[in-house]
Amino acid sequence: AKLLNVRLDTLQRKMVRAGMNDEASYDHILTAEWASLIAMEFGINPVVDDEAAFDIYPPAPAADSSTLPARPPVVTIMGHVDHGKTTLLDTLRSASVAKGEAGGITQHIGAFSVPVPGPDDDPKSERFITFLDTPGHAAFSAMRARGAGVTDIIVLVVAADDGIMPQTREVLELVKKEPDVGLVVAINKIDKAGADISKVEKALFAEGVQFESFGGDIPSVHVSGLTGQGLPQLVETISLIAELQDLRAERTGMVQGYVIESKIQKGLGAVATVLVSRGELTPGTHLIAGTAPGKVRLLTSPSGGPVKSVSPGTAAVVSGWKELPKAGDEVLSGSESEIKRAVANRLRKIEIETSLQDVEAINLVRREERERKEAEEEKDREETEKTVEKKDEKKGVEDYYQRGPGVGDVSESDVMRAKAAEGMVVAFSVKIPRPIEAMAASQGVQFLKSSVIYHLMDQVKERVIGLLPIKV
Ligand code: GDP
Repeated sequence: AKLLNVRLDTLQRKMVRAGMNDEASYDHILTAEWASLIAMEFGINPVVDDEAAFDIYPPAPAADSSTLPARPPVVTIMGHVDHGKTTLLDTLRSASVAKGEAGGITQHIGAFSVPVPGPDDDPKSERFITFLDTPGHAAFSAMRARGAGVTDIIVLVVAADDGIMPQTREVLELVKKEPDVGLVVAINKIDKAGADISKVEKALFAEGVQFESFGGDIPSVHVSGLTGQGLPQLVETISLIAELQDLRAERTGMVQGYVIESKIQKGLGAVATVLVSRGELTPGTHLIAGTAPGKVRLLTSPSGGPVKSVSPGTAAVVSGWKELPKAGDEVLSGSESEIKRAVANRLRKIEIETSLQDVEAINLVRREERERKEAEEEKDREETEKTVEKKDEKKGVEDYYQRGPGVGDVSESDVMRAKAAEGMVVAFSVKIPRPIEAMAASQGVQFLKSSVIYHLMDQVKERVIGLLPIKV
C-alpha cells in the first residue's frame, strides 16, 4: 500500500474485487504475479527484469534433416536382472578398442562406440554403434524424465534358460510408449545347457512381440555374452535398424548433448561423460549443464586417450567443469558471457522456486490459523446469541432504538449486538470501517448511516412504520 501510495483498506478492497480473497488478508505474502496484477489495477505498469532472465536453449530441429550428416545410433541394453546385460556390454566394450591403440584397456565411462564393419564393396567406410553403459533402466528413466530421447534402439536381453521375467515385461511396456525407439530382442546364454530359444521366443510372441520370423518386424538375435557367439549378428542387426531410422544430425553450430555420468576425478576435478546429439564438441568450448558452467579442457575416450573432437552420436569424458554436472543434464554451448548469464538466471530461478515454496507453506499455516480463529469466534457468537434470545423473548420498538448506544466509529461489537437483537446499526456522523462493513454484510446486519440528523430520523421513521401492522 505504501509503495502504491494508497490506503491499506483501498488496496484490500481492490484485491478482493480482483478475486484475491485469501491474499487480501493483512499477513499474506504476495507472489510477484499477484503483486504485478494489483499494481496494474492501480494503473502502474510493472517492469519485469528480463535481461537477468537470459538463458540458453537448444536450437530447433532441422526442418529437413535428409541432407545432414549421418550419425551412429545410441543403444541401451535392458532386461531382467542376471539375464546377462553387464556381460554382454563387457564383451562388446572390449571390441570397442581400436586396433593398435595403446594398452587396449577400456575404462567404464558410461558409453562406448563399437565399429561396424563396412559393406563388402567398401570395407573402409567404417560406421559405429554407441552403447550406453549405465544400468539400463536408470539411465533411460533419468534421460526421459528430463525430456531427452537419447536412445534410438533398445536391446532387450532375455536369458534362454530363464525366459520372460517381470523386468522383461517392464521393458516391453516401455517400448510401447516410445514408438520412435527401435527394438531388438537378444536371446542370451544360448551356450548354456537348458537353453530353449524357441520356447522363449514363443512366450515373447504370446506377449505381443511381433518377431520377423512370425511375420512381424522385430528381429531376434541368438547370442552368448559370455562366449561372444552371435555378437557380430547383433551388431549387424542394430546397424540395419539404424539405417532404416536414417539418423542424422548437424555437425556445425551449437553443441547439444547430455551428461551420462559425472564424478570428481583426481587431478582433473569435475569430469562428465557427455553424449553429443548435435554439433562438434572440441576443447575450448564453453558449456553449461544444469547450473554447472565449464570450458572443455580435455576430451578423453574410454581407452583414456585424448580426443580431438566428439561428433553427434558419440560420447567422451569432458574435463574443465567449474562444478559437477548431474547425470541426465542437458549440455549446451555458448559464449563465455552467455554461459555466465544463463548460470546466474538458472540459479536465481531455483532460488525463487524454493522461496515460493516457502511462501506457500507460510501462507498455508497462516490461513489455517485464521480459519481456526474464525471458527472459534463463530462458536462464541452462537452461544452469545442463544443467551440473548433467552433473555429477550419479547422485544419492543424501544429495544431496537436503545440497545447499546456508543460513541466513535462503528465497532465489531456494535454489529454483533445488532445481530443478536435482530436489529440494525444506526451510525450518525461516524465512520464504518471497511472490515466492519464486510463483517456486517456477512452477518446480515444493516446500517442506517448519515451525518445529517434529520435524514437519519427520516430513515428510522420509515423503518418503524414498516414494522407497524397493516391497517385493514
Ligand atoms: P545382468 O544382471 O543382466 O547384468 O547379468 P550379468 O551380466 O551380471 O550376468 C549374470 C550371470 O549370468 C553372471 O554369472 C554371468 O556370468 C552369467 N552370464 C551372462 N551371460 C551369459 C552367457 O551368455 N552364458 C552363460 N553361460 N552365462 C552368462
